[in-house]
Amino acid sequence: MPSEFELIARHFSRPAATARLGVGDDAALVAPTGGMELAVSTDMLLAGRHFLPDTDPRLLGHKALAVNLSDLAAMGARPRWALLAIALPRADEAWLAAFSAGLYALAEAHGVELIGGDTSRGPLTLCLTVIGEVPAGRALTRAGARPGDEVWVSGELGAAALGLAHLQGRCRLQPEAAAACLARLHTPAPRVALGAALVGLASAAIDISDGLLADLGHILERSGVGAELEYTRLPAAAALRGCADVQLAQRCLLAGGDDYELVFTAAPALGAAIESLAARLGLPLTRIGRITAGAGLALRDDHGRTMAYEVRGYDHFADGAEA
Ligand code: ADP
Ligand code: MG
Repeated sequence: MPSEFELIARHFSRPAATARLGVGDDAALVAPTGGMELAVSTDMLLAGRHFLPDTDPRLLGHKALAVNLSDLAAMGARPRWALLAIALPRADEAWLAAFSAGLYALAEAHGVELIGGDTSRGPLTLCLTVIGEVPAGRALTRAGARPGDEVWVSGELGAAALGLAHLQGRCRLQPEAAAACLARLHTPAPRVALGAALVGLASAAIDISDGLLADLGHILERSGVGAELEYTRLPAAAALRGCADVQLAQRCLLAGGDDYELVFTAAPALGAAIESLAARLGLPLTRIGRITAGAGLALRDDHGRTMAYEVRGYDHFADGAEA
């Protein structure tokens, strides 16, 4: 049985060139770039709650880091360093090798270095901490949306939630649609380049981890404003349009978690700059509505009528939220 130290040395000790000191001492040492502020975020993934225990470990390594990088993207920060705390029921070397390969592949794609962590025996649990940099005083927060701002969203919505519904037997997708949705569920692409480019453009931003309405709701609450969304403008993933269960498709679009797109607000005068950003990044950015004075979120159909909806984001402590 390998020791904890052998496991760390074998799977989590690639050199970290941008840290003064990486894995191997009592703490890592890093020096932030002058003029930058550090953005720090942590996220926990529990087997049985956030992922199935038999999930492909390579995909899990990707996703554990991706969801954290998405939080930095939502702040407009460029990710630099990560720490990994992991509890494992046993020292499964093949599992660890695949997990660490998935994690390092995404880390390298974004110039992120693993600089420390903790390893323990216990029920399979992952906790990633990420550190990014953002020009001092210019981070995107949830609190800056103003009446008259336009509401934008990146990419397409609903595919990850539809993929989960397919896995859970709540719908049956054609093989091609299933593959597309499962890719979005298992290997989300954190919108890091978009987030950094939105500094100076967006007035507020958040990443969509719990569903569009729930996450936009956080912006509205923190900014003390309301919003009107145009339902027909929402960029539904292609698989949703082919889904026979219309109500399920609507729930995935409005309240599906796990998409990790960004929803953000910006003054209307910046519309052209945002459109050229979309072209430069090769990522669709869609205007979906407008911020209003007041509170709450109204959804309008294509005749301008208010639509009734009853969908909530995921809440671990709400009634019925069980592993
Ligand atoms: P300590 O007992 O001082 O906390 P540890 O034995 O827990 O030290 O860790 C030794 C070194 O290995 C530290 O630099 C720590 O940050 C790093 N480390 C431990 N587990 C991991 C991991 N899963 N991923 C990355 N680095 C890790
Ligand atoms: Mg330790």
